[in-house]
Amino acid sequence: MTNKIPPLHSCDDFDPNSLLVDEARKRILDSLSTVNGIEQLPVRQALGRVFAEDIHSSIDVPSHTNSAMDGYALQAGDLPKEGSISLKLIGRAMAGTPFSGSVSAGECVRIMTGGKIPKGADTVIMQENITVNGDKITIGCGHKAGQNVRQAGEDLATGERVFSVGDFITPADLGMLASMGIAEVRVQRRVRVAFFSTGDELCSVGQLLGDGQIYDSNRYTLHGMLTRLCVEIIDMGIIPDQRDAIESAFQSASQLADVLISSGGVSVGEADFVKEILEKIGEVNFWKIAMKPGRPLAVGRINDCEFFGLPGNPVSAMVTFYQFVLPALQRLSGQMAASPLLLQVKSVSKLKKAVGRIDFQRGWLEANEKGELEVGSTGQQGSGMLSSMGRANCFIVLPLESAGCKAGATVTVQPFTGLI
Ligand code: AMP
Ligand code: MG
Repeated sequence: MTNKIPPLHSCDDFDPNSLLVDEARKRILDSLSTVNGIEQLPVRQALGRVFAEDIHSSIDVPSHTNSAMDGYALQAGDLPKEGSISLKLIGRAMAGTPFSGSVSAGECVRIMTGGKIPKGADTVIMQENITVNGDKITIGCGHKAGQNVRQAGEDLATGERVFSVGDFITPADLGMLASMGIAEVRVQRRVRVAFFSTGDELCSVGQLLGDGQIYDSNRYTLHGMLTRLCVEIIDMGIIPDQRDAIESAFQSASQLADVLISSGGVSVGEADFVKEILEKIGEVNFWKIAMKPGRPLAVGRINDCEFFGLPGNPVSAMVTFYQFVLPALQRLSGQMAASPLLLQVKSVSKLKKAVGRIDFQRGWLEANEKGELEVGSTGQQGSGMLSSMGRANCFIVLPLESAGCKAGATVTVQPFTGLI
């Protein structure tokens, strides 16, 4: 059932049984829908969640027409076309303390930013453009009618739909909810994600490394990425390469969580019992994906729990998480699908690559002295070398057919957008 890629070159890295990245992502997303469950939360706690309701404003924001400047409120009809004019100062309008009278021709009111525009006035002149002399002010020509006035409802109008089901909630959104006077909102519940590492060579931080052992880093990178995604996380530790341990870990994770992520043991021949057990207790596909790093990926379901078996190499685990698990978690959390932000920028590095798979190389994106974006490689690109990821702020995405490029070529870049 894999999507065959036509051979590209005799000495390429093409594998006829591998699946294209976009096709794999589409298959994953097509099989998922939002998890059931809605919560009502105080606005502050809704940060990073997804709206489960449309939100309409029940008030105008701002609620009253007000001044955008510190200055003087007056009638536009008084503005001189040439020369200057003197107006009588009749009162003050501070933010929160309106002027109770009204402004007639020949009059003005001292007004502060946010102060309610008094009855009769429609224009504010900045204080810097005015000369004050006792209770008289003098204004020159060249001002526009209606200037420096913010209209009631110009930000959000009464009845306007401000948010929709599926919108992700940002800090600006918390402020908008507050500015509409909304204290609580209905959001989708958090997706519950369990994860563990597999491998007899893995040692937990805090223990002494035995001969041939390495520290388990994947649970830390996964913890970091999942925490930023605002999901509920269940860290199940390290599972040894033993049939019984693997089976019971899969079973208990599938009871606890909506999603299970494992790392390691998905490459051919290395951990056949993982494959064997998943096939016994769930529906799981082992895909070879036409990408580097991260070629092997297991995707499926155990009971009602979505399963992602990431490759064990630390960079591969992060790349496959970013390209496949991230959009899956967004879909499960009810978020409307957003296409990844891809930029075309100049590479300052020569980039090596084999034809036949997409490369997600680690890069550093920055502006040069002319303010133009440029990307450079972060150095050695081995899929076990987490340092290349730690130094990066983007992926350099080199397409299937690319055979690498010279310095100065234009390449596609996917910024990390704060997750990594
Ligand atoms: P595997 O996918 O199990 O074949 O592992 C591929 C490589 O990644 C091996 O060198 C493993 O030792 C390493 N590896 C697997 N899991 C982890 C982990 N949790 N942390 C760090 N390295 C790992
Ligand atoms: Mg392993």
